[in-house]
Amino acid sequence: MGFIIIAIDGPSGVGKSTIARKLSTELSSVYVDTGAMFRCLALCWGRKGCPESDLALQELGEQTRISFEDEKIICDGFDVSDEIRSEDISSLASRISVYPSIREIMKNKQRSLVKEESEAGNYKGAVLEGRDIGTVIFPSADLKFYIDASPQIRAKRRYLQLLKQNGDFDFQEILTAILERDHQDKNRNVAPLKAAKDAIIIDTGNMNIEEVMQYLFECVDSSKVYT
Ligand code: C5P
Repeated sequence: MGFIIIAIDGPSGVGKSTIARKLSTELSSVYVDTGAMFRCLALCWGRKGCPESDLALQELGEQTRISFEDEKIICDGFDVSDEIRSEDISSLASRISVYPSIREIMKNKQRSLVKEESEAGNYKGAVLEGRDIGTVIFPSADLKFYIDASPQIRAKRRYLQLLKQNGDFDFQEILTAILERDHQDKNRNVAPLKAAKDAIIIDTGNMNIEEVMQYLFECVDSSKVYT
């Protein structure tokens, strides 16, 4: 058994991070949140006020150092784990992720990160979550999942989550932001969001997280990739 790679793709706000994190813990695998990597670049781009061009973004991508340390995301030496989660960074990340140079740099960064982990020997494999893991980054991943739910359901979940944090939020605004990001992610020319042909598609619309996890583990067991 080699280093097992599991790809988890799907749209924004579908719960991929929770799912990928739980799966990676259970499978003694390293968890790679590729969205966080795009978010780091978006943060640096916004701060440095770089022009919006393929070349400027390429330079930014080449200069920016991104690493994962325990649960933290470190960008150019600073812990940016909380900062990158804002709505502004979400839409900036979606905006810059259409540039071919950025996608190329990210592809190389993601592949080398997994290679390093595989050589270090601390984990049995890697669980990567993103938009193009199963289609572009690791097309020969051992197992691929595409997690989906309607924009309305994702917006409702996000709304309820934000309400718990005692804020004043508008459901319609949240839904509009989700629809915009879906449109941008699914319609870009390079590596658009879509399910790989051999991905297991899970619509989580009528499932709670326990049901989703149970189904995922059944799929992992029946795939026999760990035997
Ligand atoms: O997954 P997350 O919402 O953190 O990703 C932020 C944005 O980064 C996404 O909306 C998407 O545009 C982009 N992204 C991407 N490819 C990935 C991961 C994220 O284009 N593999």
